[in-house]
Amino acid sequence: MEKKNIDWANLGFGYVQTDKRFVSNYKDGAWDEGALISDANVVISECAGVLQYSQSCFEGMKAYTTEDGHIVTFRPDLNAQRMEDSCRRLEMPVFPQDRFVDAVCQTVAANEAYVPPYGSGATLYIRPYMFGSDAVIGVSPATEYQFRVFVTQVGPYFKGGVKPLTIRVSDYDRAAPHGTGHIKAGLNYAMSLYPIMEAHRQGFDENLYLDPATRTKVEETGGANFLFVTKDNKVVTPKSGSILPSITRRSLVAVARDYLGLEVEEREVYLEEVKDFAECGLCGTAAVISPVGRINDHGKEICFPSGMEKMGPVIQKLYDTLTGIQMGRIQAPEGWIKVIK
Ligand SMILES: *Cc1c(COP(=O)(O)O)cnc(C)c1O
Repeated sequence: MEKKNIDWANLGFGYVQTDKRFVSNYKDGAWDEGALISDANVVISECAGVLQYSQSCFEGMKAYTTEDGHIVTFRPDLNAQRMEDSCRRLEMPVFPQDRFVDAVCQTVAANEAYVPPYGSGATLYIRPYMFGSDAVIGVSPATEYQFRVFVTQVGPYFKGGVKPLTIRVSDYDRAAPHGTGHIKAGLNYAMSLYPIMEAHRQGFDENLYLDPATRTKVEETGGANFLFVTKDNKVVTPKSGSILPSITRRSLVAVARDYLGLEVEEREVYLEEVKDFAECGLCGTAAVISPVGRINDHGKEICFPSGMEKMGPVIQKLYDTLTGIQMGRIQAPEGWIKVIK
């Protein structure tokens, strides 16, 4: 297939409309067959559940062109499972997991011309999402829903080389202890916009959120999980019921253990001990791992020995191995790579 004439290396990170999107509607207790359509606009009631009470959830994943020219996606079964978890917590109907994976594959295949070529550094970002679409005025779940998948090509995350981030310990909270922090709900992002913009206005890249109950333990940032490396090369990642279970983080933990032979601890991490770590990174689909160089805790600085110029050595190895698996250069564990074409 002829690729679109796109300057892949200079793509940014914004939404660009592509040709086809998948849409399925839920009505009278059942999902319809769904279809690929060309219209990128959504028309819903002015009183739709999503507009009044934010009944929506989403997923984020990517498609890649591998070294041998296949188009693949990474562990879509885990996105399907996580979306099911999100839907249940938000009283939304579950879109069956096998149909979720099929819809993702169909949407990517229909937009094959937008899948960036191997080696370009660009990828195809995939956004499955669901929202309550019929009118709701008393507070209750909608009775009609729309499940959609669109794709948009995105540029290399680290343009012009990796730049370690400077983050700050936030005075705001991301997720209440028994709230919705563990699901991918739009509402978790709505309330994070003010704290992230405040962080940017003060010169920081991200917020480190603490556990709201004691404000002593590291949770995550607005959209990425933490991964630390100890001075003796142990990988440590925070455990909490209000962290969003990042698929990237879970995969990196497996890579650390099974590919790099490193010890891994998933446990509560106290802010107090962060100064003793050798490396720090943020895990998510967008960047895989963004290295953190510096954490500012109300004026007190924690500077990691890996510095502000490059990734630390263990995080670099984790990054290289996981991206190698995604791009087909390194043998993947059973079931991690779903070949679309
Ligand atoms: C999506 C998300 C992540 C990253 O998850 P991945 O599955 O690795 O992309 C981390 N934290 C939050 C709050 C998220 O919404």
